[in-house]
Amino acid sequence: MARTEQTDGGANSGAATPMMAQYHVLKAQVPDCLLFYRMGDFFELFFDDAKAAAATLDIALTARGTHDGQPVAMCGVPVHAAEGYLARLIKAGHRVAIAEQTESPAEAKKRGGSKSLVARGIVRVVTAGTLTEESLLDAKAANWLVALAEANGELGMAAADISTGRFEIGCVPRSQRDAELARLSAAEIVVPDTLEDAPDGAYPCPRARFDAAAGEARMKSLFGVATLDGYGAFSRAELAAAAGLLAYLDNAGQGTLPFLQPPERRQAAGHMLIDAATRESLELTQASDGGRRGSLLDSVDRTVTGAGARLLRADIAAPLTDRTAIEARLDLVGLFEADSSLRDAVRRALKAQPDIGRALGRIAAGRGSPRDAGQLRDGLAEARNLHDRLGQIDHPPTLLASLLPRLAGHGALVDQLSRALVPMPLVDADKGGYIAEGYDAALDTLRASGGDGRRAIAALEARYRTETGIATLRIRHNGVLGYHVEVAARHADPLMKADSGFTHRQTLAGVVRFNAADLHDHAIKVAQAGAHALAAEAAHLEELTQAVLDRRHAIAATADALARLDVATGLAERAAEGGWCRPTLVDHNCFEIVGGRHPVVEQAVARAGGRFVANDCSLSEDSRLWLVTGPNMGGKSTFLRQNAAIAVLAQSGSPVPATSATLGLVDRLFSRVGASDNLARGRSTFMVEMVETAAILAQATQRSFVILDEVGRGTSTYDGLAIAWAVVEAIHNRNRCRCLFATHYHELTRLAERLDALTLHHVRAREWKGELVLLHELVRGPADRSYGLAVAKLAGLPAPVVTRARAVLAKLEAGRNATGGLAAGLDDLPLFAAAAAAEPKVDPLHAALAATDADTLSPRDALELVYRLKLLLENGAD
Ligand code: ATP
Repeated sequence: MARTEQTDGGANSGAATPMMAQYHVLKAQVPDCLLFYRMGDFFELFFDDAKAAAATLDIALTARGTHDGQPVAMCGVPVHAAEGYLARLIKAGHRVAIAEQTESPAEAKKRGGSKSLVARGIVRVVTAGTLTEESLLDAKAANWLVALAEANGELGMAAADISTGRFEIGCVPRSQRDAELARLSAAEIVVPDTLEDAPDGAYPCPRARFDAAAGEARMKSLFGVATLDGYGAFSRAELAAAAGLLAYLDNAGQGTLPFLQPPERRQAAGHMLIDAATRESLELTQASDGGRRGSLLDSVDRTVTGAGARLLRADIAAPLTDRTAIEARLDLVGLFEADSSLRDAVRRALKAQPDIGRALGRIAAGRGSPRDAGQLRDGLAEARNLHDRLGQIDHPPTLLASLLPRLAGHGALVDQLSRALVPMPLVDADKGGYIAEGYDAALDTLRASGGDGRRAIAALEARYRTETGIATLRIRHNGVLGYHVEVAARHADPLMKADSGFTHRQTLAGVVRFNAADLHDHAIKVAQAGAHALAAEAAHLEELTQAVLDRRHAIAATADALARLDVATGLAERAAEGGWCRPTLVDHNCFEIVGGRHPVVEQAVARAGGRFVANDCSLSEDSRLWLVTGPNMGGKSTFLRQNAAIAVLAQSGSPVPATSATLGLVDRLFSRVGASDNLARGRSTFMVEMVETAAILAQATQRSFVILDEVGRGTSTYDGLAIAWAVVEAIHNRNRCRCLFATHYHELTRLAERLDALTLHHVRAREWKGELVLLHELVRGPADRSYGLAVAKLAGLPAPVVTRARAVLAKLEAGRNATGGLAAGLDDLPLFAAAAAAEPKVDPLHAALAATDADTLSPRDALELVYRLKLLLENGAD
């Protein structure tokens, strides 16, 4: 593999070379990127870039010459394997600029003589939000690049997933900015460098790029329209954000803008508002470990294509608030639920579907391969078959009726691609062989003459063998010598003679290689035919690419329609598998769930051989706040979350895990978990919990749904109880939303007497023969007691500790009623009185220190004491 260019003066020639000067010019254009500098078959990195890349990629760091008297650090990655290395660098948070050779060494030589340097230019800046490569993307998640900009006191947001061309523009209230970023799970965020309070990790760009007028002009030219009104009336902030986004994409593609569908205008009111903390706490699309497994999405997802998985994720991340739109999705799911053979047929067809949305994205970004064109051919043809199959359905649901036309209409393109391409075109266009025989007579002729040449060369081998009498003579081909004659060293002598007709080329251990005039002539013909054939194929690929691009919006629409079918059939499959029901949506603020289940916990319980206990939930105007008590591990959190999950699923247009479900549309969903529950993750503190609770009290409306799990637990008992008490009152009296509130503070149950729409519920447990039995069943009324010690025992806390805790509890409960307060009863609690508790050992270190009078110690005594303490420490507790 050639790693250096001779024209550059060879390796290790140091920093003063023209090559290094060229490197510095390029690097200065992309100071915040690692620069991949193309040299032959490698991308090389130098200086600090090399150090950073070598550390991230765990590859060898070498040196190349010197710069200012210091060795220049260098490392490199082979071009053919660059994608994998790029992926790791991007994942580690780097940005990478790619400097390619923009002419061949031969061209450079022609231009400026044998010493001239190959011209190079930056062709692309690769960042997390501008990827299109299959191997760098998660097939099941969209990859959003988001730009924010402010104007007229508004915050505009533009987002593009260039891997599929999705493009959204909207305004977001500042308080909902993070919720929107969380909905998209943005891969990269860009902001004007003047934006105050930018989101964490946002990349600042020059303010001038976020110019509303420029954004408007750019979009008009991009979509070839005289006015943007057809897409929505965009505000200045929205246009400014779009301008920043497009400028960033321009820069990333160095002028080649990737494919973007016309923008979809997002209106916050069209979706259930779910803030980042709620998403995290409900594990909607990501489990608490950051992965997909264990999330609600994962437990629902039965899609069979990447595009379907991406759409389902988007649906669950942004449940709708428009009843007609939700019903339309549910109708489509219902069709496939009712007809399992239709469902199976569609799913089988979809399963074989290539990801045409992403193939189109690569082609539009100028990084398409013959295989991408082949995928479009197959995908669009299959879409047509689905169109014909689904077109036979009488009275199709409205959503299906609107999808059908999008599945067809590519006949001419499919026909052209089918005629042009071989059945399984490869990714690598450089090797050729992807254009089918019979598509272009001239190409066929070139190939035939190449084939003839190769056959002639094979015939030559036989002739040379006869002529020389060397039966083992062979004609071989390699990259350096091209075609040549090879014989064993012991047969070489006759061929070395001047009049043998052979010219010596190379002697290796055991073999000697020669050229011959006839062979040379044929070889040139083969090479020429090959090069012409490659050029002809490349020209055809370009035509095909153009034909694809001419229909890009229609192809994107087909890809979206297929994804919607995948989501609908997948949900129907999930519902059939789990006995889920279609939710009924109503206009008043009720929430009536019969036999509700939590799909993730249900699966986990089933895996452990258990049975999940279904529970009802019935919130209505006169019982809109449920206070749920019961033992630890009883299932309170599960109950709260399953109902929030049901609301999310229902409004995403999905069946829900319940026997029946009737709910009034939820405008905002909130979920908070008491600080102590989250501490293990090191994220939530009591302060955060309070900030988030404040946000709920400020934002929840009468149409909202709130679950609060042990709020107030992260502080002292009295403070926590007082806060929980006041929060319940505020939610009941002021927000008046539907709310499930789980708590261990039994004192709160007294609120039932004062708040008329609050009702008490508890998860059942019993003690049987001294053992705690958790029934996970939710019933009316407050819990009779807390069972905390029983759970502690169940968890394996040592018996003496449990016994001791019982004694402390008895005193505490006595003290609660006494004038001295909660702890008063503890005063007369005998130390270490619990019968079973063994006498605790006195720590010898403590004892030694306690026996020391520091004021009377001489320096020498003090030193001795230190030695003694160290000895005690080394001997441990003994
Ligand atoms: P804590 O008060 O300690 O936070 P909790 O009452 O909130 O506990 P959960 O975390 O909801 O309890 O549930 C604990 C475990 O009980 C779950 O992980 C699950 O294994 C089981 N569980 C919960 N609900 C049910 C149910 N309805 N049917 C069967 N098992 C359940």
